[in-house]
Amino acid sequence: MTGDRGRLVGGGARPEDRMDHALRPRTLDEVIGQERVKANLSILIEAAKARGEAVDHVLFYGPPGLGKTMFSHVIANEMGVNIRVTAGPAIERPGDLAAILTHLRRGDVLFIDEIHRLGRAVEEILYPAMEDFALDIVIGKGPGARSVRLNLPRFTVVGATTRLALLSAPLRARFGAVYRLDFYDLGAMEEIVRRAAGLLGVPIEPDGIAEIARRARGTPRVALRLLRRVRDYAQVRADGVITGRVASEALDLLDIDPLGLDDVDRRVLRTIIEKFGGGPVGLETIAASISEEPDTIMDVYEPYLIQLGFLARTPRGRIATKLAYEHLNIPYEGEEQQRSLFDEGV
Ligand code: ADP
Repeated sequence: MTGDRGRLVGGGARPEDRMDHALRPRTLDEVIGQERVKANLSILIEAAKARGEAVDHVLFYGPPGLGKTMFSHVIANEMGVNIRVTAGPAIERPGDLAAILTHLRRGDVLFIDEIHRLGRAVEEILYPAMEDFALDIVIGKGPGARSVRLNLPRFTVVGATTRLALLSAPLRARFGAVYRLDFYDLGAMEEIVRRAAGLLGVPIEPDGIAEIARRARGTPRVALRLLRRVRDYAQVRADGVITGRVASEALDLLDIDPLGLDDVDRRVLRTIIEKFGGGPVGLETIAASISEEPDTIMDVYEPYLIQLGFLARTPRGRIATKLAYEHLNIPYEGEEQQRSLFDEGV
């Protein structure tokens, strides 16, 4: 069992965090979906176990809420080692990382969320730690300064990022396994909702499961959040049972449309279409028009809109596609314009 020793972030103080903790899959067998990642991880883990070694460093990337943190805990649990949880922005100085590294035990997993946000000086410490399991400490200052090498136990870094492109090449090169997490298909989403409802003891009918799964944008975190809200609605406005109709009413009230788009998704698309003639328009401009952070739009909203084929990223900016117009019931006139943009190789 994982001890969750020395958690630095994500302590789970809020009731919803505690619930997430209770629902988190513990073993690879309990993980639903992501079959390719699971198959690869099970080989990685089996092989490391057979050799009595720490697992090679693993990097997960993909949109938020797809299971990067969950997989890091599963790896630690399957290996029977402890996990330390931290995040790029939490490690401000090289000394912070040195303190964490010197407390690791043999085989431990060090999970670094948002690893693309590590500072340059901190990265410099991480390179030899990952490659040679060594910590170079400089003693003294000026001409008399000398470097002392401290050996560390063999451990595993599990990194997670929503932005692979922002990871420096040398850091990326130090991961022996790199996995991309994709949005989950409908079957997996239904299974995730069914499992969570079962563990929470929430009465739910198959139509209710299907309705929540369909509107959860292929993202387990969203599915769990919607399940909580629909459970509230079922308790207050119905007899507690989540039927298809109850789920549908609750989600309509939350302004989540049949494809799972919420108010922000629709504002992004409407802005491109109504203010900028369908695009191309820059991310910063879209963000300013709807008063959202560009990073949030890029990490949280765009991946799903792109997956649906509603939005395209081009070097000249974002474009709303014909499918987006159709979904929003806006007449589409830009066929010629978009074709010429694509013809230009934009
Ligand atoms: P990320 O780190 O990618 O942002 P998390 O690992 O925090 O995502 O996952 C978000 C939530 O969804 C967590 O509560 C997690 O337990 C749950 N979850 C993620 N993937 C799965 C899965 N395959 N099956 C069941 N629950 C999952």
